[in-house]
Amino acid sequence: MNTQPQDLDFNNRLASYAVIDAVSRGRRYPEPPPSYRSEFQRDRDRIIHAAAFRRLEYKTQVFVNHEGDLFRTRLTHSIEVAQIARSIARALHLNEDLTEAIALAHDLGHTPFGHAGQDALNACMQDYGGFEHNLQSLRVVDELEEKYADFPGLNLSFETREGILKHCSTKNAADLGDVGERFLNKLQPNLEAQLTNLADEIAYNCHDVDDGLRAELISIEQLRAVPLFNEQYDEVRRLYPDLSQRRVIHEVVRRLINCQVVDLVQTSNERLARQAPADLQAVRNQTQPLIAFSDGMRERNLALKRFLRQHLYRHYRVHRMSVKALRVIRDLFTAFFDDPRLLPEEAQHKVSELSEQAGKRGRARAVADYIAGMTDRYAIKEHQRVYNPGELT
Ligand code: MG
Repeated sequence: MNTQPQDLDFNNRLASYAVIDAVSRGRRYPEPPPSYRSEFQRDRDRIIHAAAFRRLEYKTQVFVNHEGDLFRTRLTHSIEVAQIARSIARALHLNEDLTEAIALAHDLGHTPFGHAGQDALNACMQDYGGFEHNLQSLRVVDELEEKYADFPGLNLSFETREGILKHCSTKNAADLGDVGERFLNKLQPNLEAQLTNLADEIAYNCHDVDDGLRAELISIEQLRAVPLFNEQYDEVRRLYPDLSQRRVIHEVVRRLINCQVVDLVQTSNERLARQAPADLQAVRNQTQPLIAFSDGMRERNLALKRFLRQHLYRHYRVHRMSVKALRVIRDLFTAFFDDPRLLPEEAQHKVSELSEQAGKRGRARAVADYIAGMTDRYAIKEHQRVYNPGELT
């Protein structure tokens, strides 16, 4: 299969339907254009310099941060998503800088302890508007980062913010203003956002296979029941019968990533050629996303996901950690919500500020913001400081 067509132009010649500075809907607080950078390069750079970005280093993907130094964290996951997404963007002549910005920011709102943490915080927030990591990522870049003199948050471009908000209920969309509109009007996001969403899936499915094998929570024998894995495994074994186990795994995982990227680029190229959207608006008006896997790949992808859900995410060792995480988050929320004076002073100010605006709901939101911002180890430490009388404050 020739995946390097002659017209593949690595000088980043952008398609007519790519997002470019000239068609951007701009920033919430207007700013002069950047020097020597595009607007989306500036967005990416602001994300990299954000405190929430640095904290991703100590947040769980599947494995809690202290379980081992070789496992993915939210930070390395985000970097892998950016790498995959940029390749796809460039192959499709889309805006690589915007793609990278969305990829690096997509998980900024994650709580400590991965999905278990988010579920726990969402349960605590049930009467106060709920908690959803995707919405929180937007909240981080729009409100919570405090770095600039002239505006709250990072004041990112509309298209980057739109890409960060992957999904959203109609109820929440109504409160979100411009970035919520597409959920109400049933429009598609820009293509850079669409592809980053799928790059996220490719990244986590593949690296969870790798980490799961490394942790010995799943085995190659089990994975051979998954067609997508098995095809690549057979091929690697056939080509390299004497290769060590560790290198076989890496070779299979890299081929897993590659075959999905190639399928995605080819399928999306076909769809783009068929629909021939003239510009960004035509992309938005489509009833379906234009970036997609082929039906066959989507099926095989689903089988891999189902396998990981059943054998990895529900493994008793992962589950034990999830239950502990739930307890830590719930205890912290209860303690801080009932007595905000337990919070550090800066967080107390936030509680007063949001309580004035929205009463108990505001208080709960400020506590949730504080907890969501914690790293795994900070949450564990904070739990000891609040609940253990023997622990110094
Ligand atoms: Mg992700």
